[in-house]
Amino acid sequence: MPLHAWVPDALMTATNATKTFEPQRTPRTLCFLVVFVAIVFVPFVAYVPAQTEFTEADLIAASGGRVMRIGFLADGHVTAIPLEAYVARVLAGESDPKAADAAQQALAIAIRTYTLKNAGRHARDGYDLCDSTHCQVLRPSTPTSRRAAMATVGQVLTYNGQLAEVFYSASCGGRSERAGDVWPGADYPYLVSRRDDVCEDDPEWVVEFSLDAVQRALERVGFEGDRLRGVEVDGHTSSGRVARLKLSGMRPNVIAADQFRLAIGAVELRSTAFTLEKHGDQLQFTGRGFGHGVGMCAIGASRRALRGETARAILAQYYPGLDLTPVSGVAIPDETRTTPLLSVPGVEIAKAAVGPPRASGVTVSVPKTSAVTASDIERFATAAHGDLSRTLGTSVLPMTIRLHDTLDSFRLATNRPWWVSEVAEGTTIDLAPAAVLAQRGGLEASVRVAVAELLVAGAFSERAAWVRIGAARYFSQGATAVKPASAGTRCPTDAELLLAVSPAAQREAESRAEGCFARELAKVKDWRAVR
Ligand SMILES: [Zn+2]
Ligand SMILES: [Zn+2]
Repeated sequence: MPLHAWVPDALMTATNATKTFEPQRTPRTLCFLVVFVAIVFVPFVAYVPAQTEFTEADLIAASGGRVMRIGFLADGHVTAIPLEAYVARVLAGESDPKAADAAQQALAIAIRTYTLKNAGRHARDGYDLCDSTHCQVLRPSTPTSRRAAMATVGQVLTYNGQLAEVFYSASCGGRSERAGDVWPGADYPYLVSRRDDVCEDDPEWVVEFSLDAVQRALERVGFEGDRLRGVEVDGHTSSGRVARLKLSGMRPNVIAADQFRLAIGAVELRSTAFTLEKHGDQLQFTGRGFGHGVGMCAIGASRRALRGETARAILAQYYPGLDLTPVSGVAIPDETRTTPLLSVPGVEIAKAAVGPPRASGVTVSVPKTSAVTASDIERFATAAHGDLSRTLGTSVLPMTIRLHDTLDSFRLATNRPWWVSEVAEGTTIDLAPAAVLAQRGGLEASVRVAVAELLVAGAFSERAAWVRIGAARYFSQGATAVKPASAGTRCPTDAELLLAVSPAAQREAESRAEGCFARELAKVKDWRAVR
C-alpha cells in the first residue's frame, strides 16, 4: 500500500490511479515519532548540506551491515539490498518527487520503520519483503530520495522501545482515523483520530453508483440476495467516518464500511468519510479525503513541509507519542537482519529454503519465547493428519505451520481479523498466538480444524466457503459431535464467513456452516458431493 498513493495526480484522476493505492485488507503500517525530548542520542536529522549529492556507495556504507532480502515477484529472484539503499529506492517508488525535503524525510523514516517492523513478513517464501504493493514498491533511487535517506539515516519510530506500526494514507480529508476503527483489534495509542488543519479546506468529492452496480460488487465478495433495495449508513466511527452500512435485500445485511469501500473499489469510493443519499436507483456518495485516513496523511505531510514544518513536527502531528530512535538501540524481531553485509546490492542470494523437511512432513515455526514448542505442534498436526486423511482419503504433506507471537503478526500475514483463530491455505497454516487459542478452544483443536481444512480444500475449490469451512469443522470434531442444521436453516454466505463484522457474527456463521454441512452430508452421503 504504498506511497505512490499520495501523488497528487493519482488523487485528481481516478481513472489512472491504481488500486494499489492502498493495501487491500493489509494495513500498512508505518510509524513515526516525535521526540520531545529526552534522550536524543542522535540528532534527529543529520547535518546534510542541501546540495550534497549522495551515491549508492554512501547508502551502502551508512547501512551498518544491515541487509534486506527482497523477493522480486516477476521472476522470483531474491536480492540482498543494504537497508539505506532499500529505503532510498522505496522512497523513489512511493513519494511525490516534488514534495519538500521535510516531507521526504518524514516518509523515509516511516519507510525504514515499516521495513524493519515487517522484515519477516515473507519468511516462509525465503525473503523479507516483496517488491509489489503488497509490501513496498522499489524504483531506482534519485538524488532526492538518497538525500532524504542519508539525512535520516538509521532513524526509526518506536513506542516503549519497540518498533512502531506505521500506517499512512493519501489524504485524511481534515481528520485522521483511529486504527482500531478500521481494523478491529488494531488499537495503537499513537494511531488516534486527530484534526488536520491543512486538509480541512479540501473540496468534497461526489460519486454515484447504481444499486445494480453495488449489488454486483457485493456479490463478487460473497454477498447473496435477489435484489439490493437500498444502502444506509448504520453508525459512525470516532472520527465521524462511516463504520457500517445496512444493505436491504442482501445476506448478510450489514457490512463494515471499509470492506464496502474495497468491494466497490478503493479508488472509485475514495474513503469512508462520506454521506449517502439515494436518488431513485442511484446511490450518491459525497465525501472527503482519499484512503483509510489512519496515521500519516501524505498530502498533509507535503503541505506541512511547504509551510516550513520539520520532519520531526510532521511526524509528531501524525504519530503522536512515538519516539525517534536510532535503529542500533532497537530490538529487531529477526536477528538475520544484522547479518554482516557480504555482497553488494544487486548480487543475488540463493532462495532460502524454509528449512529441512521433517520426517513427519510437517515444518513448524514458533516464536523464540514460545511456551509451546514446535514439536508439540508437529505432534498435533501429524496426529490430525493421520487420522483425518484416513477418513477423507486425501493428503496434504508436506505442510508448513506458523504459530504467530502476536495478533498483529497474524493479522498482517493473513489479512484476516483478530477473531479468526487459524487460516489454512494451500499447504500452509497460520495460527493465532497460543495464548489466544487457549481461550478459544485450544491449540490442538485449532490445528485439527486447520489440517482438516487443508485436506478438504482441494475437493471444494469451486464451492461456497461454508462447504469447506463446515466440512473442516465437522470432520475435526468427529461426526457425532455436530448437530445437523434444521431444514429451514440457510447456509452462510461467503461474506458471512469471510467478512464477518464481529467475533460473535463469525462464530455464529461458522457454527451454521458445520450444521449445514452435517445436514447436506446426511442427504448425499459422499462428503465430496456436498454443495
Ligand atoms: Zn509482500
Ligand atoms: Zn490530512
